[in-house]
Amino acid sequence: MTTTGTDQARATSRELVEAALEQYAHASADEILAWVAATVPGRIAVASSMADTALPHLVSQHLPGVEVLFLDTGYHFPQTLQTRDAVGRRLDVTIRTVRPDLDVAAQDRLHGPDLFARDPAACCALRKVAPLTAALKEYDLWITGVRRTESPTRAMTPIIEWDETFGLIKVNPLVAWSDDEVETYLRDNDIPVNPLLTQGYPSIGCAPCTARVEPGADPRSGRWSGFEKTECGLHPAAGPTDQGKELS
Ligand code: SF4
Repeated sequence: MTTTGTDQARATSRELVEAALEQYAHASADEILAWVAATVPGRIAVASSMADTALPHLVSQHLPGVEVLFLDTGYHFPQTLQTRDAVGRRLDVTIRTVRPDLDVAAQDRLHGPDLFARDPAACCALRKVAPLTAALKEYDLWITGVRRTESPTRAMTPIIEWDETFGLIKVNPLVAWSDDEVETYLRDNDIPVNPLLTQGYPSIGCAPCTARVEPGADPRSGRWSGFEKTECGLHPAAGPTDQGKELS
């Protein structure tokens, strides 16, 4: 079997991840981002849902002008799109809006209306996973705002990992941050904030799949309510899941 340039690059990246994990498993967000800026060659992207605007600001302190990928599924709240625009204006980042091949009308024609209500796993696969998979092929490392406190499925997330799903290095600098730390960072740095966060939506996704939650409830319990689905497929949890199965 021959080894391709891609295989070699992946092997090198995996070695980089293993070395970084030994040294930075318990590092702060600034420490891991300083390491990324100094060490990782190639293109780097931040993925932001615009519920996590502390992330693009923090990364821009180490990587000015960094590309921020925003997945425009066609189903976002207007407030989320307005937050994206404010982030692009006020932070030292370059917003790159990524869209699915099919707009919502074309998806409705092909798969029937409101696929999200019948098969959210298929809808997320079409509107999130496929376009992000295509976009991430251009990058060597992506940075996400995943935090361990967000849900049990995220409780074991490391600060850096090799992303098997998308085939590149994944860095999660906020992984150990609490809600209070995020709020303090947003306030201290005067960062644009999605207004829905203070209107009963502690976790924000597409409008049809995001419900208001009661104070103190699981922040992600408003996502895909009525289904067992808890993740869109971008950040798979370890172990078996039953994504998209409707609750009886
Ligand atoms: S969150 Fe809902 S509307 Fe958005 S892509 Fe997934 S199923 Fe479709």
